[in-house]
Amino acid sequence: MKTIFNYIDGKLVKPKKANYIDVFNPSRGKVYAKCPESSSSDLTLAIKSSKKALNSWKELSNEKRSKILFNIANEIEKKHKEFAIAETIDNGKPLNDSRSIDVPRAINNLRFYASAVINDSSESHSLPNNVINYTLRDPLGIVACISPWNYPLHLLTWKIAPALAIGNCVIAKPSEVTPMTAYLFSKVCIKVGLPKGVLNIVHGSGGNIGQEIVEHPDIKAVSFTGGTKTGKIISKTASSLLKKVSLELGGKNPIIVFDDCNYEEMLKTTIKSSFGNQGQICLCGERIFIQDSIYTKFKKDFVKEAKKLKIGDPLKSTTNQGSIVSKAHYHKILSYFNAVKDSGAKFIIGGRSKKVRGDCSDGWVIEPSIVEDLSRKTKCYKEEAFGPVVSLHKFKTRDEVIQLANETNYGLSASIWTSNLKTAHKVAQMIDFGIVWVNTWNLRDLRTPFGGMKDSGLGREGGKESIRFFSEPKNVCINYS
Ligand code: NAP
Repeated sequence: MKTIFNYIDGKLVKPKKANYIDVFNPSRGKVYAKCPESSSSDLTLAIKSSKKALNSWKELSNEKRSKILFNIANEIEKKHKEFAIAETIDNGKPLNDSRSIDVPRAINNLRFYASAVINDSSESHSLPNNVINYTLRDPLGIVACISPWNYPLHLLTWKIAPALAIGNCVIAKPSEVTPMTAYLFSKVCIKVGLPKGVLNIVHGSGGNIGQEIVEHPDIKAVSFTGGTKTGKIISKTASSLLKKVSLELGGKNPIIVFDDCNYEEMLKTTIKSSFGNQGQICLCGERIFIQDSIYTKFKKDFVKEAKKLKIGDPLKSTTNQGSIVSKAHYHKILSYFNAVKDSGAKFIIGGRSKKVRGDCSDGWVIEPSIVEDLSRKTKCYKEEAFGPVVSLHKFKTRDEVIQLANETNYGLSASIWTSNLKTAHKVAQMIDFGIVWVNTWNLRDLRTPFGGMKDSGLGREGGKESIRFFSEPKNVCINYS
């Protein structure tokens, strides 16, 4: 049994009250580690240490802070294999994905912001008669970064890299469902000599320590990625205390397939956008709209490709469908399936759990599932399942699919598949989603704004957006006449 510790004041420490939460290996369905259930006394120590560290960290030059972040990235790169295996054991995702997506993306996040901070520039605005304004962007102080379980290391670094690069101190709370790579990350921070107190990682459950972090008067801003329900609670708390808040929330994303698209490319990518990470990606397309002229062909080919997905032990290199992250989430997806069946819709494939033979026989595994005839009035059509399930829908015209795509409370991402430039531009312009891909999906450029509209979030992260979020603009106006 492994024990995870908090990372407070530059050291790995036990939680003051010695309370722990079981951490499961979801592919085995067994507890393999314990993680601190931190309390107010742990948070007090973390805040105290950040307060001590803040001035010297923010006064350090951008180059020096950048160098430390590069060193952290380099060290993770050296331990790439260890991080990838840990992510797979903790989360249930295929090792191939941890190796090729999670760990490289975490390294990229650190390098991107290490480099962004030394290449950043501030604005200046001149007026006639010898007046000039310049805008300083100071760090906010101590900020909170709260991240979910679907990309544990990737989304942790996505938040803490910009926050630290600019000179903030961070209190991070990873999801207690998948705390292992954050723990390994704290060991790397110690190894490379990140000054103590600059980053404190306080583990524990969201409703307890998460909520306390958000409420704490010394926390100036909260960057949160997770479900919409939690996002609304955090938003309410933070706004009543006039704290800055950035919310990256759930989605019910449309994939729009026109009959003139590059069919092979679309099919290959739509399998990924449907079942990648067992459907547990906020950007997955749960609603697929297909132009009626190719609907039957698409359905046949899509089912054929989905059946080829290899479900199994996520540690095996042949596996491309691992397990669902937790027992609770597994049951949530299965109850969604029951609601789909009750609504009269039918599963073309899947719609049930899967027993994997051998070491993974107690794992929480669900078959890739495809639904047809799902009524647009049902809750299942409207709510995010966050699992390996998609529904297929026909459309005839461009205007019709614009209306269908927008028929949701969410607005995170969308993919449009067409070779007609005019259609691509028109649909991209008319649909209400923060991220729109044309003839691709989940192609990331870290310089671009990332985030959603409506129930999918508030604000944007990525590129300059994160730098702006984690800093306070101060305008200085000088009359030098
Ligand atoms: P979640 O239950 O909302 O939890 C996210 C994080 O918030 C966890 O660390 C959680 O701790 C913590 N938390 C829960 N209640 C809290 C509170 N009252 N105060 C402070 N923190 C609290 O989300 P999840 O189930 O981990 O993640 C899945 C969701 O994230 C999906 O809806 C998905 O679409 C969304 N997501 C969005 C993006 C995006 O960029 N838009 C990216 C990835 C995922 P516990 O683990 O202890 O509950």
